[in-house]
Amino acid sequence: MTGLVVVIAALAADLGSQLLASSSSTAASPIDILRGEHRDAPGEADSVVPDGTTVFDDEIPGVANLDPDLLGALRQAATAAAGDGVEFYVDSGWRSPEYQEQLLREAVSEYGSEAEAARWVATPDKSAHVSGDAVDIGPSDATTWLSVHGAEYGLCQIYGNEPWHYELRPESIDHGCPPIYADPTHDPRMQW
Ligand SMILES: [Zn+2]
Repeated sequence: MTGLVVVIAALAADLGSQLLASSSSTAASPIDILRGEHRDAPGEADSVVPDGTTVFDDEIPGVANLDPDLLGALRQAATAAAGDGVEFYVDSGWRSPEYQEQLLREAVSEYGSEAEAARWVATPDKSAHVSGDAVDIGPSDATTWLSVHGAEYGLCQIYGNEPWHYELRPESIDHGCPPIYADPTHDPRMQW
C-alpha cells in the first residue's frame, strides 16, 4: 500500500511539473498568458509573431501563411539586405480574422473612435494581413533599406503613416512603387 501511494505521489508530481513546463513553454507569449480567456479562440494565438522572427521562419504561422510570392520577394530582399549588414524582422505578418478583430477593438478603445482607428487598423474582411498579402517589417534600418531597394523586389510601402507595412506590387520592379496613400482611409480597398 505504501508503495502504491509513493507511485501515485510520484505520478502526481510528474504531472504537475509537466503542467508547469507546458504553461511556461516558448509557444505561449506573455500576451497569450495575459489574454488567457481568449486562448481557445481559433487562430488568435497563432497570429502573434514571436520577437526575433525572420522572413525565413517557416514554422511561424504568421510567416508561413503569407502569400508565397510576397514571401519569396521578402526572402530575396532580406538576403540582399543582409549583404548590406541589415537584418529584417517580422513584427506582424498573416493574421487570423479573429486576431484582426481583436486588434481593431483595441484600436477603437485606444483612439476613441472607429473613424480614428480606421486610420491604423483595417477590418478583418479588408485587411491585407488577413489575406496574407501584407507584412510589417522592423527595425527602422530594415524599413529604411526597403524604402530605397524594396521596389527592385516588388516590395512597396503602401501607407504614409505606416513605414513598416509592405505589400507586393510586382509592377514596381519595372515602374517603381505606386503613390503612397496618406493612411488606410485613403485606400480604395478600404472603402465600404
Ligand atoms: Zn501592416
